[in-house]
Amino acid sequence: MNDCILRALTGDGAVRAFSAVTTNMVEQARTTHFLSPTMTAALGRTLTACAMMGCMLKNDDESISIQIDGHGPGGRIITLSDSSANVKGYADNPACELPLKNGKLDVGGAVGKDGFLGIVRDYGMKECYTGKVELVSGEIGDDLAQYFAQSEQVPSVVALGVLVDTDCSVKAAGGLIVQVLPNATDEHITALENMIAQLPPITTIISGGGTAEDILARAFASFDSYTFETLETKYKCDCSRDRIKRAVASLGKKEITDIINTQGSAELTCHFCNTKYTLSKDELEELIG
Ligand SMILES: [Zn+2]
Repeated sequence: MNDCILRALTGDGAVRAFSAVTTNMVEQARTTHFLSPTMTAALGRTLTACAMMGCMLKNDDESISIQIDGHGPGGRIITLSDSSANVKGYADNPACELPLKNGKLDVGGAVGKDGFLGIVRDYGMKECYTGKVELVSGEIGDDLAQYFAQSEQVPSVVALGVLVDTDCSVKAAGGLIVQVLPNATDEHITALENMIAQLPPITTIISGGGTAEDILARAFASFDSYTFETLETKYKCDCSRDRIKRAVASLGKKEITDIINTQGSAELTCHFCNTKYTLSKDELEELIG
């Protein structure tokens, strides 16, 4: 089954939802970064949320980033999505592993909760911080719900899940974001509260063969009608030799001259996909020119 995100709206226009199956994307993140099971869940949940938020963007050239720094042993988590839900991300300490907590991967323990979750929007040219909230639990779903409520004043349900198999591969991953729009009534909110109380873990639905449509059907079970569109999502890094050269060029003439004098060439690794780029002495000199 391919990864996908459904972008949906109830017939009365009062509630919108995004449901996602991201098993392949999270597995690719795991193998790219050699993630421990706990960090597979931590980065996988963040990537899944980021992809759904990419589907909220209005213009093609916009992108969105989730940046979490809870001062836990897993370090910072950074993810980015473009408006086509191509995502990439990394964690500072991909190998961090903690004992299970209540039989579950201890994502909150690895992320920590002494810090912030920030959302950065990029409108093509310039970066813009849209919000920063204190972490609630470091479990990411709760923290993001807090962000939507506080920074965007949009009451939201955020459910994210990553199920890691006994061989450490990703068995199921996905998510659901449900948002109450300004024309919603108390009845809508009560219906959603009942839905959440009965919603099984997202990964239970997916590992049982359920699709993004099945997740959406549960979320909108109490609504008469809804429409949705299906979007593809995947782990994709857009780094290139040119991009790396531009980054090095921005270091300035003095810094680059220092690199030439001390190391001769420069070896750089992309944080997001671990591709290594070596810039020769000639290439570095060209950048100064
Ligand atoms: Zn890359």
